Amino acid sequence: MANPRIGIIGAGQLGRMMALAAYPLCIDCRFLDTAQNAPGGQVGPIHVGALDDADALRALAGEVDVLTFDIENVPIEVLEQVAGQVSVYPQPKVLAAAQDRLAEKRLFRELGIPTAAFVPVDDEHDLDRAAQTLGWPIVLKRRRLGYDGRGQRMADDSASLVHGWRELDRAPAIAERWVNFERELSLIGVGGAEGSLRFYPLSENVHADGQLVCTIAPYEDEDLTLTAERWLEKLMRRYDYRGVLTVEFFHTDAGLLANEFAPRVHNSGHWTIEGAQTSQFENHLRAILGWPLGETAPRGHAAMLNLLGELPDRARVLAMRGVHFHDYGKQPRPKRKLGHCTIVDPDRDRLLKRFAPLQALIAETNC
Ligand code: AMP
Repeated sequence: MANPRIGIIGAGQLGRMMALAAYPLCIDCRFLDTAQNAPGGQVGPIHVGALDDADALRALAGEVDVLTFDIENVPIEVLEQVAGQVSVYPQPKVLAAAQDRLAEKRLFRELGIPTAAFVPVDDEHDLDRAAQTLGWPIVLKRRRLGYDGRGQRMADDSASLVHGWRELDRAPAIAERWVNFERELSLIGVGGAEGSLRFYPLSENVHADGQLVCTIAPYEDEDLTLTAERWLEKLMRRYDYRGVLTVEFFHTDAGLLANEFAPRVHNSGHWTIEGAQTSQFENHLRAILGWPLGETAPRGHAAMLNLLGELPDRARVLAMRGVHFHDYGKQPRPKRKLGHCTIVDPDRDRLLKRFAPLQALIAETNC
């Protein structure tokens, strides 16, 4: 039988790590990306083209068995056009909900998954309504094209809310009540053929300025895990979902609130490469090809640290015992995700002790 071929829209680090997971399984991966030197290019061929270039997408679709994506800004109309030509997983209709924060929040509500209180914002009158309904502080988020804290403004009063809305170019937005959370958690699930479903353990995530800095997994809480799994299952069953799906939560004293979902492999799951029986990347490939899903059990406790803005000295990192170093091959730029490091240890306390010097070293360069 010929080797399966997968087309990945976007050749960022997520696509690159998918293609790396594909290698041992003899799966052929190729990409569509705007840049020839994107991270995936070291692992598979890149078709250079805009993500909304229907011809480029059709050309890629013509060469592969399944099409998937590592980026969420793929225009749905273009994706739906090729969906008649080749299988597209995860399904474009799930991606459509994830691209619009309002649709996403409404979907959570419809499925009985609690979220922070929110008010849609289309004009300045809605800002007054938001202030009355939500109180202060408020987080204003663009409905579309916001990620890693971009496209968001915090407001403590009416003046800063109006100012923030103008800074966001008066784009359609949602105003959200500020959540005083204890911690942030995420759950990654994978949906395969014939309704098969598996979940990784909960991960605890630390963000700075809206961007993920580190993840520690598993976060061991049986009740929270069961609740989060039940919610993810509802979401995945709604769409007969195929592939990896991630939901991010705020853990508050009243329980979990869903913040957002991503119909793709996720930064908070990078620890699964070394820290789980099967990585999220391999399981995504297995799921979209209709192959049996791999075990999602952890191999111990794992800590993952993002390398942001500038890479640390490689030799110093590699000299630290048991540190796994991932360099995505990207040019440095403040806040840009250039790589990550992971440590795995059977014992959580020992893991945290080993993690501290790595954090100190990375703090010298992260920017
Ligand atoms: P998001 O783009 O919605 O994932 O937001 C990025 C990060 O900003 C989250 O992971 C939180 O750390 C923070 N954040 C977003 N929304 C809220 C909120 N309503 N209350 C408190 N923190 C928030």
